[in-house]
Formats: sequence, structure tokens, C-alpha cells
Amino acid sequence: MSEPKKILSADPHASFSAHEGEIRAALDRVLVSGHYVLGPEVTAFENEWSAYQGGGYSIGVANGTEALELALGALGVGPGDKVATVANTVSATAAAIQQIGAQPVFVEIEADSMTLSPAALAEVIMREGIALKAIVPVHLYGRTAAMPEIVELAQKHGIKVLEDCAQAHGAVCAGRKAGTWGDAAAFSFYPTKNLGALGDGGAVFTRDHSMAQRIGALRQYGWRQRYVSAEPGRNSRLDEMQAAILRVKLNYLDAENARRARYARRYLELLQASPLSLPLADDAEVISAWHQFTVRTPHRSDLQAKLVEQGIHCGVLYPVPLHHQPAYAAKVQLPLSERACAEVLSLPVHPGLSAEDIDRVSAEILRWSSP
Ligand SMILES: *Cc1c(COP(=O)(O)O)cnc(C)c1O
Repeated sequence: MSEPKKILSADPHASFSAHEGEIRAALDRVLVSGHYVLGPEVTAFENEWSAYQGGGYSIGVANGTEALELALGALGVGPGDKVATVANTVSATAAAIQQIGAQPVFVEIEADSMTLSPAALAEVIMREGIALKAIVPVHLYGRTAAMPEIVELAQKHGIKVLEDCAQAHGAVCAGRKAGTWGDAAAFSFYPTKNLGALGDGGAVFTRDHSMAQRIGALRQYGWRQRYVSAEPGRNSRLDEMQAAILRVKLNYLDAENARRARYARRYLELLQASPLSLPLADDAEVISAWHQFTVRTPHRSDLQAKLVEQGIHCGVLYPVPLHHQPAYAAKVQLPLSERACAEVLSLPVHPGLSAEDIDRVSAEILRWSSP
């Protein structure tokens, strides 16, 4: 008997194969150009990414974590400050806050969207007072957090907002793209993201010209003029090869997100009959980038094991909430975040899959739930 075809939870190789000819041509162009770091491809990608966002400034950097760090620094967050974020995110979000000497304050999520709760945020703002300098909502799994409410609260209290858009390239909230709500946004182009390079990459997006200039300096030793550091900076440069690859892939982002959305609708329809809690569907308010299709069940390990037996790989994003991790341990009670981390399972939804793959995953889940 032949093994069933493997269905991976992410497939950067498939994403390369789908655009192989164009990517090889782009790399050839870079190889002979003589520019390898922060050159014309990076500038062109920055302009194209800003245009995709509907206007503004993009600054290409080394990865998504450093995009968060540089943006926080440029927003005036520093040692001793507090930054509100969620606990059900990847370590990178908290790492960026800690790297600049600030302290993360973990805020509870909404039960249904699993993103930052505006009501819980209001309480944290009251409790922390002026120590709280910024809010980093995470658009988890591709779905935007409740940005109109979060931005309103932030503005009322004079707190900056930095959107963690690492999972939300192209997502929309109330008619506006993810990344255009806050004072700044951080994107990651890690290979498995909706817009992924073939190595590390990231960008800060902002509509504020002087902030863009500041981040442009901070990413390269604080230089405003070559070899002269105007302020302490670092090296967080994006290279030409990654930028050239991203320019190819950006042309397909909307089509690939549409394919993810089709697969998500199919799952929502087929899994209606299962006992799983399903993610919120797109509606007039939110269009998810469907970075992940994340279901919930108290029997997660059982379901995951059953699917792996069939060659179907799923992600657990994220198994341990940040306030329970040794590096970020905090004595807060976040029952909804804790429960989410215990129950979530992300089914394969990337554009390298076929509609038949989605049907096969769904059929296996239904077989598991009513054998
Ligand atoms: C991937 C990711 C990051 C970090 O991006 P890197 O490029 O890996 O540094 C930050 N936040 C979230 C939510 C992510 O998914």
C-alpha cells in the first residue's frame, strides 16, 4: 500500500517552485548588478510595498523582530517603559519589546477572535497609567485585531500603536489594510509568511515621513550621511536578493491570499458538521489574510496524532503563552489566552495546496470525530 501524499502545514519550497522562473531571473539580475545589500532592488521593493499599502513609507530591514524593535525605538519607547501586547503570540513580539529595554504587559484576548481585547486593554491602561507607552496588537493567523477600538483608546490616552503584521500581509479591517491603522507596522518576510522571502527579511511601514527617515538611519548604524552616525544605531539591513524575490512574490500576494480564503471557506463549510470550534469567517468588517486556519478542540493532541498518521501536518501556534515561558514569566491570569494555547490547531491552508487536499483534511477530521 502506498503512503498517502504528505500535506504540510507550510511549504516554502512549493512557493519557490510556483514562481521559479521569475525568481531565478530576478536573482541573476542581482548577481550581475554589483549591488548586494540596500541597493536598487530594496528601494524598488520598499516603493512597491508602500504602494500596496495605499501610500506611505516602507523601510526594509533584516527580519520581523527587528522591524518591531526599530519601530518601537522610533516611537520613543525605551528602557523602563511598558508595552501592552498579547500572550498568545510568537516569542518575537515580546523579544522585540525586551530587546529595547522595555517590559511587555500581557493583555487578555477576545474569546472568539483570539486577538487583543479592547475591554481588557482599557483596564490595563487604567492600571499602568503613564508607564504604558505603546500597544502592539498582533493580527494573529491573518485576522486583524479590533483596530478601530484599539486606536480610539490609544489616542484618548496618548499611547502609540505598533501593529504586528507578520501574519497579516494584505488583511483588511473596516476597509483599511492591516498596517495602516497604527503609528507604525512591522512586517516579517520569513519564508513561511504570506509574503515570504527565501531567507530572512522584514519591513517597517509608516505614514510618518520623519519616522521613516529615523528608521532608515537606525537600520544602518544611525547614519543619515554615510560614515557619520547621527545617533546610536545598528545593522538591520535587507539584502538585494531577498528584495528581488519579494518583488516577484508581491505580484502574486493578492491571488494567493484569495486562494487561502477559498480554502478557508471550504473548511468552514465542510467542518460545520464537526465538533471543532471554527475560526470567525470573513465579514463586512474583517477580511483575513488566512495565514493560518486555526480550529480549537480540547482533544487537540488526539486529533493532531490522528492527522499525522495520515500524513497531514498541523501547527500548534502557540503551545505556551508568553507569560508562562521562562524568559517572560509574569504573574498574570489570562484564562482565555491560556485556554486558546491549550486548544488551538492550525490546519494546512497555504496556496501550495489543492482543493482536494482541503477536502482530504476535512474528511479525516470528520472520520476522527464520528468514526
Ligand atoms: C513571524 C512573526 C514575527 C517575527 O518575524 P521574524 O521575521 O521571524 O523575526 C513576529 N510576530 C509574529 C506574530 C510572527 O508571526
